[in-house]
Amino acid sequence: MSAVSERKPKPVQPSRYNIAALKEDLDGIALIDEPQVVRKRSRDFFWYSPVLNQLLADKSADIIAAPRDEAEVIRIAAACAKRRIPLTVRAAGTGNYGQAVPLQGGVLLDITGLTGIEWQKAGVVRTAAGSRMLDVDIAMRDSGYEQRMHPSTKRSATVGGFVAGGSGGIGSVTYGGLREPGNILAARIVTLEEEPRIIELRDDAAQKVNRAYGTTGIITALEMPLAPAWPWIDVIVAFDDYMEAFQAGYELALADGIVKKLITPIASEITPCFGALKPYCPEGKSILICMIAEGSLGPFKAIVGKRGTVTYEAPSEEGPGTVPLYEYTWNHTTLQWLKSDRSITYLQCLFPHDRLVESARETIAAFGDELLPHHEFIRFGGRVTASALPILRYSTPERLNEIMAQHEAAGVFIANPHVVSLEEGSRHKRADADQLGFKRDVDPRGLLNPGKMTSFIADPAA
Ligand SMILES: Cc1cc2nc3c(=O)[nH]c(=O)nc-3n(C[C@H](O)[C@H](O)[C@H](O)COP(=O)(O)OP(=O)(O)OC[C@H]3O[C@@H](n4cnc5c(N)ncnc54)[C@H](O)[C@@H]3O)c2cc1C
Repeated sequence: MSAVSERKPKPVQPSRYNIAALKEDLDGIALIDEPQVVRKRSRDFFWYSPVLNQLLADKSADIIAAPRDEAEVIRIAAACAKRRIPLTVRAAGTGNYGQAVPLQGGVLLDITGLTGIEWQKAGVVRTAAGSRMLDVDIAMRDSGYEQRMHPSTKRSATVGGFVAGGSGGIGSVTYGGLREPGNILAARIVTLEEEPRIIELRDDAAQKVNRAYGTTGIITALEMPLAPAWPWIDVIVAFDDYMEAFQAGYELALADGIVKKLITPIASEITPCFGALKPYCPEGKSILICMIAEGSLGPFKAIVGKRGTVTYEAPSEEGPGTVPLYEYTWNHTTLQWLKSDRSITYLQCLFPHDRLVESARETIAAFGDELLPHHEFIRFGGRVTASALPILRYSTPERLNEIMAQHEAAGVFIANPHVVSLEEGSRHKRADADQLGFKRDVDPRGLLNPGKMTSFIADPAA
């Protein structure tokens, strides 16, 4: 995957910061200031949004710093604090809302040099924040454990990037999202001060860095809970009608005895863009993509066999040269479509658990061909419900906002993926109070990823 823009960048502007002095401070640390490289790495996947593509195309850091260990992270943080230079952490750069795009220039801190598992015990792993999620699961394979959940970008994304920028994904049908208590056990952070501190955030306190876009500290290590690594079987089931696929998926999601990792109904209008998967997606049929533990296949088929036809069944694979089945779900569904047509975009919805089926049916009826559905069954606050990233045939920003407002009026939460700030993008349209308060303690000058937590006002005396 590559974050390519269709717009031409503007010429490089001189930096407003004292980068020459910073370079001296950081002698011995790997630095990159070649403008084209810096500009390319200052991007993520914000271009899925036509609105953000306009807004962010010209944003760039001034320099990249690539620490090899926590001691170098501390030196970089101290130098940025001393010289009042913004610092934005970048991991794999697969975020969708410009989370890792430095809005005010400065340093882009490439955290991917901090890798490796510190320790593992039954049900828990402690890993460096820049570790790739796929590598973590590979390293743990022999122990019989795996991460509870991962984004569909698992083959590129890092553990730290997921915690700081993501929400949930494959596995959330059983364990819920990252916000659920117990899904992040501890985080070690470096503060952005002239004398940076190391803080260990444990249990509830670890939520202070969850989906804060790196505005509340540089995460160097994470302790994450694990799940049994079942032999997973990828299955595709075809249905005559989308709501039949949805109903079967809902029944599976509710069946607590069936061990599952992914349940995704996808509308028949979307599957023609599915490349290698097309032979298993009969024309005109909606599909259900599932990852089921081998031992649960019998009861699984007892539910879906009543209504649909199994078109594909094989052990899950995610090694080199393969495209895992989960790379057709979550926001990879959007990517599959964007490969051949850049005119569409997407929404991020959370449906009400107490009228889930009605609510899904209503939104499908309300927007017709303008919004093509695929849902992700998840657990949320102990209930089974669905999130969705439907494909939207984009026309204007006004229409986009109107569609989101209509969803909210109908009781479907929207996490707006067409804005850059934490506040506007959150379901509740405000910053998390704990995160806002914590930021004052760990980043009093507001130098960490400035512009992303807009409610924070830096103390002029700091
Ligand atoms: C095709 C596609 C599918 C996706 N599917 C999913 C999905 O299923 N679920 C999901 O939740 N997301 C999904 N995403 C979004 C994204 O891939 C994930 O959130 C991913 O976990 C981000 O990890 P990353 O390493 O790329 O982080 P980056 O994009 O590099 O960073 C994300 C944010 O975290 C901050 N950050 C990164 N590392 C640190 C650190 N060590 N300390 C402090 N801050 C840090 C960055 O500043 C940035 O604000 C998808 C994106 C794409 C393009």
